[in-house]
Amino acid sequence: MLSPMETDIRSLKGIGDAKAKQLLRLGVLTVWDLLTHFPVRFEDRTKVSKIFDIENGRYHCVNAIAVSPATEHFVRKGLTYYKLLVRDDTGIATCIFFNNKYIKNNFKVGCEYSFYGKVNIRGKNKEILSPEFELSSKTECTKCIVPIYPLTSGISQKFMRNLISESYHLYHSYMRDIIPPNVLRTYSLSPLEFAIKNIHFPADLNSLEIAKKRLVFEEFFILQTTLRKMKFSAEKRQGIKFTDKDITPFLSSLPFTLTNAQKKVTDEILSDLSSGTVMNRLVQGDVGSGKTVIAAVSIYVCVKNGNQAAMMAPTEVLARQHYNDLSPMLEGLGIRCALLTGSTSQKAKREIYEKLQDGEIDALFGTHALITEKVRFMRLALAITDEQHRFGVRQRMALSEKGNDVHTLVMTATPIPRTLALIIYGDMDISVIGELPPGRQVIDTYCVGENMRERIYAFIRKEVMKNNRCYIVCPSVEESENIPLKSAQEHFSHLSSKIFPDIPIGLVHGKMKSADKEKAMSDFICGETKILVSTTVIEVGVNVPEATLMVIENAERFGLSQLHQLRGRVGRGSSKSYCVLFCSSFSDDIKERMKIMTKSNDGFKISEKDLTLRGPGDFFGTRQHGALHFKIADLANDLDVLRQSGFAAEALLKEDPQLLKEEHFYIKEASEKLSKELVL
Ligand code: ADP
Ligand code: MG
Repeated sequence: MLSPMETDIRSLKGIGDAKAKQLLRLGVLTVWDLLTHFPVRFEDRTKVSKIFDIENGRYHCVNAIAVSPATEHFVRKGLTYYKLLVRDDTGIATCIFFNNKYIKNNFKVGCEYSFYGKVNIRGKNKEILSPEFELSSKTECTKCIVPIYPLTSGISQKFMRNLISESYHLYHSYMRDIIPPNVLRTYSLSPLEFAIKNIHFPADLNSLEIAKKRLVFEEFFILQTTLRKMKFSAEKRQGIKFTDKDITPFLSSLPFTLTNAQKKVTDEILSDLSSGTVMNRLVQGDVGSGKTVIAAVSIYVCVKNGNQAAMMAPTEVLARQHYNDLSPMLEGLGIRCALLTGSTSQKAKREIYEKLQDGEIDALFGTHALITEKVRFMRLALAITDEQHRFGVRQRMALSEKGNDVHTLVMTATPIPRTLALIIYGDMDISVIGELPPGRQVIDTYCVGENMRERIYAFIRKEVMKNNRCYIVCPSVEESENIPLKSAQEHFSHLSSKIFPDIPIGLVHGKMKSADKEKAMSDFICGETKILVSTTVIEVGVNVPEATLMVIENAERFGLSQLHQLRGRVGRGSSKSYCVLFCSSFSDDIKERMKIMTKSNDGFKISEKDLTLRGPGDFFGTRQHGALHFKIADLANDLDVLRQSGFAAEALLKEDPQLLKEEHFYIKEASEKLSKELVL
């Protein structure tokens, strides 16, 4: 049976099809949606001022009596204003309303009203501009804390306020509290009714805090319960058991020995793969920590045990690089490799599809092309996704679903704070490569303005003369009229014709044809070109050991984690490397961010700062992450509540793993709904 909370908002008084359509734009379809359409902020209008005390330019709430009827003042067509003279026992003020001819009917001379608005003082005249008002006996929009909602055209604050208030009064006794009573008690959380009431119409600031904490807790609690449940059921899933764990042949074909951190992670993976249950593991490691070889060793073991493996990367450049780096080594060990991307020819694709099904390819590398329908494996047992943060959960799963009980390994070079990792990858085991291979030097990082441009160009020249290579990264591909950002295209033309006519320069960006991209990359890798102008297509994973200088234009435009990724493209060989951040402005915020970059080379530290400075939305760039759509919680600020709700979820599942108890019915329902959304 449908809960009253799931009732269509059209059942509310005054909501017809037109209004329902407008509300839908805000994601509001049901009464419950409406009650969880939370304010973005609040205005504290609790303090009532005397007219004598009101100050120019500030917002005030005053109680005053209408002295005379409102008067009309015509300025020009389209602009008429109305003046209403009001007084209290300390003085007189004029309320000004624009273009509202009905305003005259709203006031009765001699009656007392409350007004809230911005004060404008001109000489002796005190004006209150376009105030909100009500009878002074009321406290709906004055003398209280007023919620400010996200709106859409056709819906005003007042309308929203009244609608929510009405539905609260009609429906509050039908609300279902998802949080079990003992959790409410343990974490001193307010009941749902109190929380919903006070998040919209807070009795005072303290009640607002209490309400907010409870709602944030609830949101995290559902998520954490869901993720832990997913992990729990995955852990019990049977997986293909790899019996041959001998990796010595692989290790002896490597030109280096594994770092201790790499050894530890390899052991964790090997133990997963031989456990008989499905592996579901995330490998986190800073840029350059050597994740690729971890992927390779896993592929090796997988194939050696008679299975196929697939490795998916977010860009063509990166997929190709993996293939180029790993296939010679793997082929040397008898493993047949292939590369499949969007630009693979039809003919080659057909051949790959066939060979995959016949088991004549052991390891397949590629981009999203791997998860297209035509790709079918004979016996896929290991799915690896590199730079996971670029993919959604759905894509990760799509690759795993190309076989039965496939082991999953995901790698990310955007180190994320542990708390956040637990949310986004809460359904996975996490390994950290907490150490860089030996001999890596610190990349000296400088933040500079335009005045340094000539000197930096001289520096680029000097590096190139030493036979080193240089990246120059621009924030956009093409020149745009609106935003004065350096475009890769223009900057490339400028540099190659005016600044470095004698030095071979390459250009690579996302809008180029794959073949051209590939050519640009391989020219740079082999040293045919010495300078590579690019967009962020080179952000992830690209490995050119001879590159020693990374110049980033409009660095203020990038997130810190992204800058760190870009910087990680240099310092991969033995020569001293540098990163230059050009900033076109220096606000306090920019200065603070750049200082973090120049002071730290630690990806984990940087990402933590990034998260607190920019919030998780920006943190992951434009890509939305399913698990990060919060209605009220804010990851950057609510970390404590996040932790607490994690403990609560843990305890809940320990007590009742399948959530079968009656008092867990609503959390079960909510969690099942969310788990469907997460994998969509
Ligand atoms: P990332 O973790 O950023 O993906 P890569 O796997 O691309 O890093 O490795 C960066 C570079 O370090 C590569 O050139 C790789 O060959 C090298 N490398 C990896 N592991 C080691 C090691 N244990 N010792 C020396 N060099 C290593
Ligand atoms: Mg990598």
